[in-house]
Amino acid sequence: MARNWSDYKTNSWVQWCPACGNFGILLAVQKAFAELNLPPEKVSIVSGIGCSSRIPYYVKSSNIHTLHGRPIPVAEGIKLANPEQTVVVASGDGDLLGIGAGHFVALGRRNMQIAILLHDNAVYGLTKGQAAPTLPLWVKTKALDSPNIQSQVNPLLLAFASGYTFIARAYAYHVDQLKDLIKAAINHKGTSLIDILQPCPTYNDIMTKEWYEKRIYYLTSEDPSWDPLVSSSEDFDAKAPKILNKMTEWGDKIPLGIFYVNMSVEPLDTRIEKILPGYLQYPPAKRPIEIKS
Ligand code: SF4
Repeated sequence: MARNWSDYKTNSWVQWCPACGNFGILLAVQKAFAELNLPPEKVSIVSGIGCSSRIPYYVKSSNIHTLHGRPIPVAEGIKLANPEQTVVVASGDGDLLGIGAGHFVALGRRNMQIAILLHDNAVYGLTKGQAAPTLPLWVKTKALDSPNIQSQVNPLLLAFASGYTFIARAYAYHVDQLKDLIKAAINHKGTSLIDILQPCPTYNDIMTKEWYEKRIYYLTSEDPSWDPLVSSSEDFDAKAPKILNKMTEWGDKIPLGIFYVNMSVEPLDTRIEKILPGYLQYPPAKRPIEIKS
């Protein structure tokens, strides 16, 4: 049965401010689910706490709104218990890169097939706009008494160092490009990150729609030969410097698109199969997992 994005709408009132970037992300998620023809009971969105973390209420699928910083361990539990489930984590930069940073790193080390949608607005919008981990050093938004004195976290570099095998950046108002990236991230057989630049018109008066749209460009439009695909360790050695160079570009120009895809790293279930032969052959309830005390 073909599905339409509106099949994933719920009756909940969407409680975001007018023009919030979260609206674009919501529509892109619904369109991606529809184009992948995902049955609502077979896909789970897991969120933490923040404005963006209300998204489970607005998408008709099997979702969980969890605790601050904890969506990733809950998502991992869902995936381990039910490997056939499509699992997406959607949360903010404060939730995933602040209090949840340890889980963000650990997920990459496991290379589980979970897609992370990072709603990246650089502020804690739900609690009146404090500086979040991706707010650049010395930036003073209208919600701050003084400029930010902490350096920003680069989500792409953190994911790369942690072992994520699909890393991309998107812009919340480019709905169709974001939708295509979400589909690719969900289909990737490993841990994926999409860092989604998401204007917060209420509290971030510096990194606005106008600010972003003067700077963003797509990797493939500037360099048609851009190739983020890594298929071996030799390939990694050859391509990593150029990939890292693009991941660190920020300021007058901000690249979007797929930075890195590594198909040569084993996902977690393949690793489990090596120590528990037969693991992949059984339906989840019958897997030969022996619990040792
Ligand atoms: Fe969106 Fe910012 Fe409003 Fe939160 S405070 S809903 S992030 S515009």
